[in-house]
Amino acid sequence: MRLPARPPELAPSGASRRWDLRRALRHAVPACELWAFALSAALTTATACDDGDAAPPLEVKAEGPAPRRARDDDPTRRPEDTVPGDAMTFHFIDIGQGDATLIEFPCGAVLIDTGGEQNDLFDSNKALLAYLDGFFARRKDLASTLDLLLITHPHIDHNRAALAVLERYRVRGVIDNGADAPHSHHDGTPDPGATQQMAVHAWLRDHPRDPPIAYLGVGARDVPPEGLTNPIIDPVAACAASAVDPKITLLWGTVSEDLRTYGENPNNHSVVARVEFGKTSALFTGDLELIGLSRLATRYEAHPELLDVDIYQVGHHGSKNATIHYQMQLMSPRVAVISMGPYERDIPWTARKYGHPNIIALEHLAHPHYGVRGRRTPLAAWIGLKGAWKDEKKEVFERRTIEQAIYATGWDGTVTITGNANGWLDIQTAGR
Ligand SMILES: [Zn+2]
Ligand SMILES: [Zn+2]
Repeated sequence: MRLPARPPELAPSGASRRWDLRRALRHAVPACELWAFALSAALTTATACDDGDAAPPLEVKAEGPAPRRARDDDPTRRPEDTVPGDAMTFHFIDIGQGDATLIEFPCGAVLIDTGGEQNDLFDSNKALLAYLDGFFARRKDLASTLDLLLITHPHIDHNRAALAVLERYRVRGVIDNGADAPHSHHDGTPDPGATQQMAVHAWLRDHPRDPPIAYLGVGARDVPPEGLTNPIIDPVAACAASAVDPKITLLWGTVSEDLRTYGENPNNHSVVARVEFGKTSALFTGDLELIGLSRLATRYEAHPELLDVDIYQVGHHGSKNATIHYQMQLMSPRVAVISMGPYERDIPWTARKYGHPNIIALEHLAHPHYGVRGRRTPLAAWIGLKGAWKDEKKEVFERRTIEQAIYATGWDGTVTITGNANGWLDIQTAGR
């Protein structure tokens, strides 16, 4: 594909827009939602207005003619040369607000993140372990073995079950961003994600295995211009079940210089992974934010094919600061999946309070020129205009019907995408 114009650093399109009630009203909000906005203190809007069929479509206006895309000729029917065994399946597991993605290969399995939401209404560790138990019961040939456990960054919504996974299954290798120090929130309380990552490192030291569990802490400066790979990063090979050799390449990690720009928040120090199986590819950016995404794009200017994928796991749970125009142009994804919790859980530290997924991310994902190329069975969904968790004001959402191939664990439950070696994708949702 042709490389788009350079990204405007720190000023990606849409990122600085402010959302408020007036903007919400300009969007032809259904009458019941107008009523709910007006009385937001008195009403819980979700159930009062949950008449999904009436939600207007998520339409994004685009100026100028649509650019020609490199791969507009995606098949709309399963090609006859599709070999069922030559496929990988991504399981975007419904673990509430957080990330946990199991990648199933013909000859192995990899888990990216073990996060999730834990509160009185939901226990993500229980949900994740139950899912993995079910998976290994079906794939007995894998002998409860994860070839790789990759933690993108030490936030608890990404690593809550890391120790539990290590203790319950056989894990051949562990990769994280290498951070091994406590981290405190502004109020001085220790960050549980940093504590969990240190506990994982201690566990690996205290539990020698034969053969040893491989470990790699990835720094951004370790990653060469063509991406980083080795037998720890890419532990699954071809086998009798399939002659296709999956490829895993890392594109980012902890940044050790210019910390005033990147910040100490682990998000911009996320390990970024590209996964390929034949002609199907996917990108995981963890919680990388604007500056990290912008620098990621410029770093791979000489190898834009590394960012060009079919499946995009939407950054930072659909936050407004983690999906940008230039990155979308480079990726040209067919499908996007947001890992996040459901709107219905209206308590602290949930997707509802964060306002996820945010309308700014959705507008990039649905953009007619550079948004996702596929379509989905239409689904009426709640989209955040404003989160509430910091200032304890009421969050603001609007209801839209999603017709583009944008999926979310908070809307669809667990989403599984089987990517065939010939590029054909099969998508299934568990439903909520
Ligand atoms: Zn994070
Ligand atoms: Zn996160």
